[in-house]
Amino acid sequence: MDNKIKTALTNSDKNNIWHPFTQMADWLNDDPYKPLIIDRAKGSYLYDVDGKKYLDGVSSLWVTLLGHRNPGIDKAIKKQIDKVSHTTFLGLTHKPAIDLSEKLLKILPNNLKKIFYSDDGSTAVEVALKMAYQYWQFKNEKRSIFLSLKNAYHGDTIGTVSVGGVDLFHSRFRSLLFKSYFTMSPYCYRCVYRKKEIKFPATAENFKDHNMQMNCEGQCIKEVESILAENNKKIAAAVIEPLNQAASGMIIMPKGYLKEYANLCKQHGILLICDEVATGFGRTGKMFAIEHEDVKPDFICLSKSITGGYMPLAVTATSNEIYNAFLGKYEEFKTFFHGHSYTANPLACAAANAVLDMLKQNKILQKLQSKTKHLEKELTSLLEHNRVGNIRHCGVMAGIEIVEDKKTGKPYDSKLKTVAKICANLRKHGIIIRNLGNTLVLFLHLTTTNRETSKIISAIKIELDNL
Ligand code: PLP
Repeated sequence: MDNKIKTALTNSDKNNIWHPFTQMADWLNDDPYKPLIIDRAKGSYLYDVDGKKYLDGVSSLWVTLLGHRNPGIDKAIKKQIDKVSHTTFLGLTHKPAIDLSEKLLKILPNNLKKIFYSDDGSTAVEVALKMAYQYWQFKNEKRSIFLSLKNAYHGDTIGTVSVGGVDLFHSRFRSLLFKSYFTMSPYCYRCVYRKKEIKFPATAENFKDHNMQMNCEGQCIKEVESILAENNKKIAAAVIEPLNQAASGMIIMPKGYLKEYANLCKQHGILLICDEVATGFGRTGKMFAIEHEDVKPDFICLSKSITGGYMPLAVTATSNEIYNAFLGKYEEFKTFFHGHSYTANPLACAAANAVLDMLKQNKILQKLQSKTKHLEKELTSLLEHNRVGNIRHCGVMAGIEIVEDKKTGKPYDSKLKTVAKICANLRKHGIIIRNLGNTLVLFLHLTTTNRETSKIISAIKIELDNL
């Protein structure tokens, strides 16, 4: 692209747009990178306006599932455009939404029987919180507190921020929020109760322990047990990101934690909301993360990958027990008074139907194992690096925690933006990934090739050597 046009576009962006999760003073100063203007995409790659290609290592914020410009999804959306692009879902319905609900209910745990549509991950969780709260009112129980985890991220609406446990994002809003209890995050690498069984520092030999079995005394789960025992009559629901607290830096839960958490909820009569907005649709190697530990929640929240990264769409699936509690005469006002303008958008539903069809027909999850093994092998090769403190990996998701001192695990001072600068430098290698604090995050497409994965890891190695 002509430099003058490019400069004009960049200036226009800087003058007119406020970007999410971005310190705009840095953006205006090209710190740590210059705004990159994306023009098109294909498969694993994004192309800027000069035609330079970049390997998309974060699935464009964890949404593109089967690569960009996927022919099957392109076709499904084009076909739907020729019929109807949008209609209200109040008093009307349509085939793409009906088909999608049938397909989802076939692959979800069999206690989940009803699909409620919304638009994004935050609203999927918000819906579950509101349904749980209202359900207890119908049972004549006053339960208004939610149980969540430190380091939890469930979205940016006020409801989801109320159950958010990332202090950097959420503590500023505390006085605006409803009450939640937070138990410690199962973040083994930085666990204050860490015992010698959990090996430290990270080395190839210790890799398995860092993707851990619960081989400690499980203080993180004991906290859940004691809060539930004391407060079970006050708690409306517990909300958890199964297996991976992704947005706080790919904090992979030790094996057994999720099952134990779900069992405790059941024992104490607490509704369980599993937020699979990030982990759903194969990202963990199985269709849903809950399948790894055979958990059956009362609600599951889905979004991001559901449309293969094409359109905003979300789902809150729940049981007949919850749904039936809302039934009654109109004048009883038990209706779930919640909905959005774009609820169940037909184009988005058509995209999601295409994604589910392709996952099934092309046996994509069955073929994924060799890719996740390859990623694991590549990550293991990074472990010896003296700037790598810990690596957490599950399916096609990984977090590489960068430290200043490997022996003590001392992190880089976040103000120095050291880890953000690694991501900026990776653009010179034609790679787009993002950091979450001191953790480099990989969130690969299910279609990313082994060669592409190796390319990302080699480039990271080079940039770590340059630190
Ligand atoms: N829940 C989880 C687990 C997430 O990772 C995210 C986003 O990263 C959300 C909810 C919020 O989704 P959205 O950004 O689509 O509102």
